[in-house]
Amino acid sequence: MKKIIIVDDDIETRQFLSQALGANFDVLAADDGPEGLALIKAEKPDLVILDLLMPKMHGFEVVQRLRQDEQLQTLKVLISTSKSYAADMVTARKAGANDYITKPFDLATLLGKVDEMIGGIKTPVALRFWGTRGSLPAPGPHTQRYGGNTPCVEVRIGDRLLIIDAGSGIRELGNSLLKEFRTRSIKADILIGHTHWDHIQGLPFFTPLYMPQNKFVIHGVHGTTQSFSEVIAAQMQHPYFPVDMKAMCSNPQIQELTGPLHLGETRISYHFLNHPGITVGFRIDTNASTLCYLSDHEPYGRLNAQGEFSAKEDDAVARFVQGADLLISEAQYTDEEYKFKRSWGHSTFTDVIGLAVKAEVKQLALFHHDPDHTDEMMDKFVAECQNFIKSRGYGLRCFGAQEGMALQF
Ligand SMILES: [Zn+2]
Ligand SMILES: [Zn+2]
Repeated sequence: MKKIIIVDDDIETRQFLSQALGANFDVLAADDGPEGLALIKAEKPDLVILDLLMPKMHGFEVVQRLRQDEQLQTLKVLISTSKSYAADMVTARKAGANDYITKPFDLATLLGKVDEMIGGIKTPVALRFWGTRGSLPAPGPHTQRYGGNTPCVEVRIGDRLLIIDAGSGIRELGNSLLKEFRTRSIKADILIGHTHWDHIQGLPFFTPLYMPQNKFVIHGVHGTTQSFSEVIAAQMQHPYFPVDMKAMCSNPQIQELTGPLHLGETRISYHFLNHPGITVGFRIDTNASTLCYLSDHEPYGRLNAQGEFSAKEDDAVARFVQGADLLISEAQYTDEEYKFKRSWGHSTFTDVIGLAVKAEVKQLALFHHDPDHTDEMMDKFVAECQNFIKSRGYGLRCFGAQEGMALQF
């Protein structure tokens, strides 16, 4: 962690800054000039946030003295003061301050300034489930809580918007974005794990795609017999759909994944899964946390019987999700149901818990619920999973993904 020293005689300012920066930095504080100077020399921080008017020694003098020390030439100094005179800003810079911020300032301004000067601000991931059902939409009174819409997950990393899968859940996400952005342009990267209907069927109903001011990039892998763009366009062709993809006047870019994507500080990688056709899972590493998404997948050992080759493939999947803060994983069947659904390309609850424990995942969201699993059944399955985890003493948190559920990590 980078280190910041606050030198300010106002206790409220010291508390506000300590609280605002404590999650991302090692923060120390001093309440006057001489004490601050001594602390800075001893601790050699990355950044000093310095008040101007303090007892014993004012901020201008502190900066001058800091700059006289050869070891502190590259130290970043941010002046934080209620004095907004241009003359004072010029003097502070001449004395050796790098930047100036006028009190009172809001949290976003402060964090932006600090990030610009020394980096290190971690952006939490905010996530919302818009579709959690697998295979087929299953609306109705028995699926109200866990949801009837097929896969769609909204992910926000600061201002960046990612959408994972475009099942029927993406329609309501579109409506929500239109309310939020109004006439402003919506920009998003849409990640498609595979092109089975339940993962793309909502795309034609994602209204923001039909507005020219919006910008979308739809990412996926090359199909088994056609390009990714041909497969995506095909579901809107006659005789299956009334309007073709040309009607989407935002002109979405359709890009085939050939390696990891780098979006700012966020890295998105993919791994092939065991599912009929071509399917990938995603790993999203941000500067704060890791989110993994595996849907749809049938463990190799489960399908092909245990053996060296299956173990190698299953180990590779575990390595791919290693250490994730949140793993969203399909878990469509109980062990009993699997007996009749072997080779359909899906996992059981126990498979997924085994994977998450092996990969030291922190939180597991059970996802891609079977269309025949009612809320009542899901409550029972989730409780059984939680009891199993508890009985084994695993440190994993497990829950059933529900439509509308929001998380931050
Ligand atoms: Zn599916
Ligand atoms: Zn599928």
